[in-house]
Amino acid sequence: MIAENLKKTMETIEAAKKKRKEGMAEDVTLVAVTKNHTLESMRAAIDAGVTDIGENRIQESRQKFDALDREVTWHLIGHLQKNKAKYAVRMFDLIHSVDTIELAKELDREAAKHDKVQDILVQVNLAKEDSKSGVYEEELKALLFAIDGLENLRLKGLMCIAPNYDDVEDTRPLFRRMREIFEEIKEYPLERANIRILSMGMTHDYDIAIEEGATVVRVGTGIFGAREY
Ligand SMILES: *Cc1c(COP(=O)(O)O)cnc(C)c1O
Repeated sequence: MIAENLKKTMETIEAAKKKRKEGMAEDVTLVAVTKNHTLESMRAAIDAGVTDIGENRIQESRQKFDALDREVTWHLIGHLQKNKAKYAVRMFDLIHSVDTIELAKELDREAAKHDKVQDILVQVNLAKEDSKSGVYEEELKALLFAIDGLENLRLKGLMCIAPNYDDVEDTRPLFRRMREIFEEIKEYPLERANIRILSMGMTHDYDIAIEEGATVVRVGTGIFGAREY
């Protein structure tokens, strides 16, 4: 089941890449979102070719991190509370959800303790949804420059979660705007940043996100089936 779903997902990714505009030559990394799924499912996905996994809660990921007997790249995709920054730095290769300078400073402090340079993305709340985390577009530039002053963080790009529109095509302008912002921030005179990653698209909209320039997609349901809560 998982291997078959993964194969279909990879095919969808390849098809969407072919529809991109010229100049979008990046590879697309698939993050398999394993939240609420078992270690067995994680192992099955990794054995079928998954290299990157995404989790959204610290407590759940700590148990899995300790128990998983596979080498894999760990992505934190969910909202992170400052008081859990220390766990995040220990486990995650890339933290997608930085959206305040306070959180960034806490991550920087913890990373320094571990002699680590922590790769991060800044989450943008483009549609200004109350229910979602993320910095507003107007405040993005100031946040990026503030983060650039933190020695133990390396900004790698941006992340967004599109609203759940009835018609998934309505997400397209938003993904397109994210790509524009992504190109804009590459031109900022940031010292430490290495802007390469645009994380956008989930099961219902990742094909559109790729067509509009995503370099990382986060797919859970499409690989593992519906989550039971
Ligand atoms: C759960 C989650 C996903 C995956 O969602 P699916 O619809 O199951 O693909 C992607 N990104 C974030 C931030 C999530 O929390």
